[in-house]
Amino acid sequence: MYETYEFLSKTLLPYRELNERKVMAELSSRLETNAEGAYYVDSSCVDCDLCRNTAPDFFRRDESGSSIVYRQPVRPEEIELAEEAREGCPTESIGKDGVVQRAQRESRMLETES
Ligand code: SF4
Repeated sequence: MYETYEFLSKTLLPYRELNERKVMAELSSRLETNAEGAYYVDSSCVDCDLCRNTAPDFFRRDESGSSIVYRQPVRPEEIELAEEAREGCPTESIGKDGVVQRAQRESRMLETES
């Protein structure tokens, strides 16, 4: 685990400084393969494996080589793990505002139906 952290510190963490505009995951770049719900991974994932190691019950690699949320955390201890993964992501690719997107989609569907 320490080797992983050391590797990330030297190679991926400077990404945050280089990409100053990105301070959090972007809902508009949410990968479609994420499970519906609050947590998601966006298209900036660099497949470093950290979230999958931290919270393997919620994150896995999809067919394109990006991490996705395949099961949403529900219980407090699950959310705590997902948060640890989100905060540890070196590219800020994990978001937790996905429910907003669902609400917006449902609102659009209602507008189309009426
Ligand atoms: S979402 Fe973040 S922590 Fe997970 S594999 Fe992608 S870059 Fe790494």
